[in-house]
Amino acid sequence: MSETSPKLRAELEGIPTYKPGKPAAAGGPVAYKLSSNENPYPPLPSVLERVTTAACDLNRYPDMACAELMDELSERFGVPHSHLATGTGSVGIAQQLVQATSGPGDEVLYAWRSFEAYPIVTQISGARSVQVPLTPGDVHDLDAMADAITDRTRLIFVCNPNNPTGTVVRRAELERFLDRVPGDVLVVLDEAYREFNRDTEVPDGVELYRERPNVCVLRTFSKAYGLAGLRVGFAIAHEPVAAALRKTAVPFGVSQLAQTAAVASLRAEDELLGRVGSLVCERTRVVDGLRGHGWTVPETQANFVWLRLGERTVAFAQACEEHGVVVRPFPGEGVRVTIGETEANDIFLKVAEAFHKER
Ligand SMILES: *Cc1c(COP(=O)(O)O)cnc(C)c1O
Repeated sequence: MSETSPKLRAELEGIPTYKPGKPAAAGGPVAYKLSSNENPYPPLPSVLERVTTAACDLNRYPDMACAELMDELSERFGVPHSHLATGTGSVGIAQQLVQATSGPGDEVLYAWRSFEAYPIVTQISGARSVQVPLTPGDVHDLDAMADAITDRTRLIFVCNPNNPTGTVVRRAELERFLDRVPGDVLVVLDEAYREFNRDTEVPDGVELYRERPNVCVLRTFSKAYGLAGLRVGFAIAHEPVAAALRKTAVPFGVSQLAQTAAVASLRAEDELLGRVGSLVCERTRVVDGLRGHGWTVPETQANFVWLRLGERTVAFAQACEEHGVVVRPFPGEGVRVTIGETEANDIFLKVAEAFHKER
């Protein structure tokens, strides 16, 4: 056998691997997964029924144009088809956006800590990550981000609400920021948790996009709509950007099951948003409970809470796991805990109460 191996791009060296949330331990008495911001509710019967029917055609390729889903989205958001693109989850679209805008020598700017896919997709394209620390209150520091723009900046991610802190940026500060961004730099508003937001000062990215050709909005069916397993998300952007997304898409990437489920979910939106409402109530209960036990919790508008535990992060995650809930530790920084089933949230609150007393 030859000693040499295929030449791979040097940029791939040292790419951080995406760490999926740990699955709930099998075999334990109770095991709840609060580590991936998933929706704890099972698929709606109406959605499941359409997906089951669609499965009869698995020998066929999906509709490459995602026509039915595009029609539905176009009507719902009041945007032309030419401003829409679907993808294999919004992570897939984020990767396409970086690929379409940024290469070696270019810079991709985002807050840190934020969504862990951003450094990965940036490095895959050979571009350089410029990470701007969150404020001490764990919010995007938009002034510092604007200051960090250079003539190499090609794309800026703004994750609103931010994963993993749940914090938001509001209309006035976001508009002020957008006014400072040069028109040839793409701003991606990642609104994966938009449906969980209850702060009326948080702008709808779709409204901001209308007046701004350099703004792209990312949405997903993975969180509020409960379809994480099917991999479908979409982008709303002006034509050159949306067209670039169609060019960079893997052909037939979005499966027919995913397209069908997404359409069925939009049609069952009232029911799904009712579930989101219940999760928001649970969020309030969890945050109030934590604060009542003495914890400092940043205001969250997403389906998770952030505990800045620093050096005690791993110990806390272990304590949760011992009691049957799996959370998401970022060692040395903090723990992100998804709002899940009531029983799971109760366990988490109990562990947090005991842990806070111990210190
Ligand atoms: C979960 C999440 C997404 C959505 O990912 P999908 O690929 O659509 O499942 C996108 N952005 C952020 C910040 C997320 O947390």
